Amino acid sequence: MHPNLLKVKSRDKKEEFKLRISGVERGKHLFSINCDNAFFEVAEIPDLHEGDVKLQIEMDISDKIVTLDFHFKGYVTLPCDRCMEPVNIDLDFSDNLVVKLMPWIEEPEEEDNLWIVNENTYELDLFHFVYESIALALPTQILHPDDENGNSTCNPEILKKLEELTPHEKEMGDIDPRLEALKNIKLS
Ligand SMILES: [Zn+2]
Repeated sequence: MHPNLLKVKSRDKKEEFKLRISGVERGKHLFSINCDNAFFEVAEIPDLHEGDVKLQIEMDISDKIVTLDFHFKGYVTLPCDRCMEPVNIDLDFSDNLVVKLMPWIEEPEEEDNLWIVNENTYELDLFHFVYESIALALPTQILHPDDENGNSTCNPEILKKLEELTPHEKEMGDIDPRLEALKNIKLS
């Protein structure tokens, strides 16, 4: 794809996360956004370039408060911690955000799930919130799952190579004097 085309697409993707609140009818509104490859391209979550997560946002707006309920469902593709080959991680989780509308606020205060903004704010930019929600929902360890026989579904050739390398790593660990010293420390 031509680089300029990608840029235009990315900017459009960020625009989708701007939710207008000014002049919006009070009550509940439903939005859906697709967090697709174009989203992950601009989001720049480490190692994450591919995915397809459907995001539903239920916005409940009154004069003083906007509550937003997010539901994420789909998958992202990340490199496996063991074999480095891509693995799809299913995501299905919820998050929420409360936005208080205040008359005297000049600079918006954004803290995790509570924002305080001026009552005349035109729109809420949810891009960063969504980015953080997804980043925090990722498991700490990314691994290919085991099959029904308990065998790893990682790339077998890479697993073989890793096994060949393992004895060397062990030897190096054994001769590290700092590790030896740690082993001898007795907890009183
Ligand atoms: Zn793997």
